[in-house]
Amino acid sequence: MLNLVLFGPPGAGKGTQSTKLIDKYNLVHLSTGDIFRHNIKGETELGKLAKSYIDKGELVPDEVTISMLESEVKSHPEANGFIFDGFPRTEAQAGALDKFLTANNTAITCMLALTDIPQEELVTRILGRAKDSGRADDANEETIKNRLNVYEKDTAVVASFYQKQDKFIGINGVGEIDTIFSSICSKIDEVSNS
Ligand code: AMP
Repeated sequence: MLNLVLFGPPGAGKGTQSTKLIDKYNLVHLSTGDIFRHNIKGETELGKLAKSYIDKGELVPDEVTISMLESEVKSHPEANGFIFDGFPRTEAQAGALDKFLTANNTAITCMLALTDIPQEELVTRILGRAKDSGRADDANEETIKNRLNVYEKDTAVVASFYQKQDKFIGINGVGEIDTIFSSICSKIDEVSNS
């Protein structure tokens, strides 16, 4: 199985690259942000809870996020592999994911991290995306700043988690979408052929 963690700050291009990767590698795309938004639209209990955090740019509590992710993975027994997009976002989530995958006789292949994108560019990209995404958390500059702070405070450490396992791969996230996509693909091909 090819199980990829696509990592990077909000606005790094994880969603854009995931869409291209699932086509090429025939993987199941699990974006925790998308799953929360789907629940918000459907006005489920999970959606109501998630909305109260997402609107402020805070993380949804680990317990809720982990059990949601695990049930999504279980609902795809046919999968060749997964792209985890926006998950794990805390060390606790990374630990839980490892444990869960081990129990299911699989593991994370590697973390692909989109790096070196200046903060101002992230803010500009997110505000630009807000026009199409209709996401309230993309349209409000204060919320964006908070999301970026939360990333630095709680999420950036997740990279070290995979570095310690020798599974971290950094990719420069500045440039043309297709150029970044090619860099990601060469890294995936290297890892899967090794
Ligand atoms: P995203 O679509 O990845 O930008 O996520 C949007 C929002 O959903 C985040 O700002 C968080 O509030 C919430 N969220 C998404 N993924 C997670 C996660 N793994 N852990 C906690 N909250 C999350």
